[in-house]
Amino acid sequence: METPFWLDESTPPVVDSGSQDKVDVAVIGAGITGVSCALALARGGLRVRVHDARGIAEGASGRNGGFALRGGAARYDVARETYGAEAAQELWRRTETALDRLEAVAGDAFRRTGSLRLAADDEERGEIQSEYEALRDDGFAAEWRDDLSQLRPEFRGAIFHLPDGSLQPGRFVRRLAGQAAAEGVEFREHHRVASLDELDAEQTVIATDGSGRGLLPELDDAVWPARGQVVTTAPLSERLFDCPHYARHGFDYWQQLPDSRIVLGGFRDFSILTEMTDDETTTEPIQEALDGFLVELLGYMPEVTHRWAGIFGLTQDLLPLVGRVPDHEGTWIAAAYSGHGNVLGLMCGELVASALLGEDDALLELFSPARLLVSG
Ligand SMILES: Cc1cc2nc3c(=O)[nH]c(=O)nc-3n(C[C@H](O)[C@H](O)[C@H](O)COP(=O)(O)OP(=O)(O)OC[C@H]3O[C@@H](n4cnc5c(N)ncnc54)[C@H](O)[C@@H]3O)c2cc1C
Repeated sequence: METPFWLDESTPPVVDSGSQDKVDVAVIGAGITGVSCALALARGGLRVRVHDARGIAEGASGRNGGFALRGGAARYDVARETYGAEAAQELWRRTETALDRLEAVAGDAFRRTGSLRLAADDEERGEIQSEYEALRDDGFAAEWRDDLSQLRPEFRGAIFHLPDGSLQPGRFVRRLAGQAAAEGVEFREHHRVASLDELDAEQTVIATDGSGRGLLPELDDAVWPARGQVVTTAPLSERLFDCPHYARHGFDYWQQLPDSRIVLGGFRDFSILTEMTDDETTTEPIQEALDGFLVELLGYMPEVTHRWAGIFGLTQDLLPLVGRVPDHEGTWIAAAYSGHGNVLGLMCGELVASALLGEDDALLELFSPARLLVSG
């Protein structure tokens, strides 16, 4: 029951070319970030080994809601104010390009459905209206929806985000890992890195999102682990949702898969303090809230086949840390997507790889780890 639905399918094992004596880069974390980074580094001519305490995609990358969204974790209008109009626009555009790349490699693990960002009350309606207008002003494709009478509970308007889609994240990351292995990347699964010093490599990339506690003290201060909980139902007899839906500032999110199952996550705010943890277990209050919402959505309680938890990393400005780690020679990071890492993880894994390979990029300034990491 606690195996995430996404990982509950048999996939061919990722076969790498075996152990290399010494590598140029050691990557910690075999989720979307670590895998995309490793692939980009291997294509750049470097010898790479990826270490993970578990198996490929068994962290947040195989435990999430399966939403593949453009943009960052903040609303677009808020992002413009907080990060600057130019930086926000660049970030949103780049994630749209990353979504196109994701589509190109994901095959049947991705469906370009669009997504529906719903307002649960009038206050939220005002907020997403501001977001909608900001998106349209800057030329991003978005549609406003008022007629939501087919949905229960009642919602007060929505933005339909055209470029977004639905991802089978476990399948996608394992597929990408297969490509990385074919390019020479070595995977060392079920091996927890206790200290950066144990890694026999010129350079190290930390790609642990919210689960890298203990690797660097300053990282433990800057990245706050948060737990998300998700359920999946047995296939329903009716089709109700044709794309990912999310409401209440993204606290609640659900989608219906092609076989008519519902995947529903969220309600972290029902017990916000206990959910600020890296303990990956499900809890009764949140599971009850999820069950209650299933009844609201469907009008009856369906059979639930999977219940699981996952950990992601939050930052105070809702932007990830990507780039060189200050005061630690040869150490890099791409992590902490504030619950928005499916597309950003792909993009930031590649971004940190290009930085390591000596390329400059406007986004590296926005994501600079130095803005949040204070060395002790
Ligand atoms: C419940 C939930 C729902 C979410 N929903 C969405 C969504 O719908 N859309 C979206 O875009 N994002 C979502 N996210 C966020 C998204 O899943 C993550 O941001 C993304 O998967 C991060 O990928 P990653 O590769 O950076 O990290 P992860 O996939 O977490 O991989 C990090 C890996 O590092 C390994 N690791 C950690 N420490 C060590 C160590 N010391 N030694 C060795 N290995 C180590 C872990 O085992 C783990 O496998 C959700 C997250 C959760 C938890």
